Amino acid sequence: MPASFFVVTGCDSELDPESAVRAGADLTVSNEDKDKVMELLATAEVIPSSALQPQDVFKETAPTRTRAFVKVQDGCNYSCAYCIVTVARGECRSRPATDVFSEISTLERTGIQEIVLTGVHLGSYDHDHGNSQGLAQLVQAVLDQTSIERVRLSSVEPWDVTDDLLREFSNPRLLPHLHLPLQSGCDATLRRMARRTTCDEFRILVDKIRSIIPNVAISTDVMVGFPGETDADFDQSLSFVKEIGFSRLHVFRYSRREGTAASTMPNPISKAVSQQRSAAMLATGEHLSDIFAHSQVGRIVPVLWEDNVVISGQTQWRGLTPNYLRVLTFLPPSTDLSNQIVDTRLERVLPNGLLGVLVEQLPQESFQTVIAQQLPLFE
Ligand code: SF4
Repeated sequence: MPASFFVVTGCDSELDPESAVRAGADLTVSNEDKDKVMELLATAEVIPSSALQPQDVFKETAPTRTRAFVKVQDGCNYSCAYCIVTVARGECRSRPATDVFSEISTLERTGIQEIVLTGVHLGSYDHDHGNSQGLAQLVQAVLDQTSIERVRLSSVEPWDVTDDLLREFSNPRLLPHLHLPLQSGCDATLRRMARRTTCDEFRILVDKIRSIIPNVAISTDVMVGFPGETDADFDQSLSFVKEIGFSRLHVFRYSRREGTAASTMPNPISKAVSQQRSAAMLATGEHLSDIFAHSQVGRIVPVLWEDNVVISGQTQWRGLTPNYLRVLTFLPPSTDLSNQIVDTRLERVLPNGLLGVLVEQLPQESFQTVIAQQLPLFE
């Protein structure tokens, strides 16, 4: 039996499964079935079912014990020039709200404390029923009709962030984190991408969000090397990203998708230039993340502790703040923080997260002692 299997799922598996097989895929799995990858591997006899452990299936079909993704919508009615989603996944289809509540209630009973509402184009939730405030109403109903402790939104297109949606953030159970895909900080590039926003509109939105939601993290996606992106366009984009001061950047190099408007656009960007731009944007992203993390030092926040790893015989716990910062702390092996939400003081910025100290376990005066004990463990 081989030690690894090559499975292709997502848009490519729908659009061109043959080329995935030619590239050596053991199995291609449609979007609809991607939660059943392990079972399908066994069914297709890629691996014998006797080799399939219950925990393998669990990993693919069930959420982590602390956080779960709840898909509320699929498809998209827009046609951003680089995006194949409309072709691969069709038009917007929203799940009935009652199904969503029912799934969340089931997750709650299994002990899940945080759910992330997701969709291919989450902000268009219920637009297929002519309801332009669908996402805001869904969030309000989830907060009212379930008692799940924490609700997080995945990516929301900037033009879908309505005042009604922002009002829901006055409820602390809706976590202060918005991922707003920008794609480019240059208006000319945004127009060629057929994005429905301008830099000015984006800037105004971010100012509004920050004035309404304290300590909000605003993260984004940025694409580099879109056809026709000049050096000046890229510089503009980089400056805009710095000006906004995102908490985190996901940087993508443009990748041509057959069947999209961008695939026939002139002036493609060479791989070398695209790589240079990506490196510059990534470096900016790291710098901005560092600034945001430092701005949070000293705050006491409810951290959802998720899991731990043993490093050199010491147990390091990992958790997430409401505004999606990774927090780390070392604790004695006898302490089980799993799936607990604990007030934690953010003490230091480390290379891979923030050092946190649990407030309830430690009197204030011993923080410095604890920090002095912990810092060498991170080196
Ligand atoms: S990038 Fe998002 S909004 Fe644009 S077409 Fe793709 S899914 Fe739709």
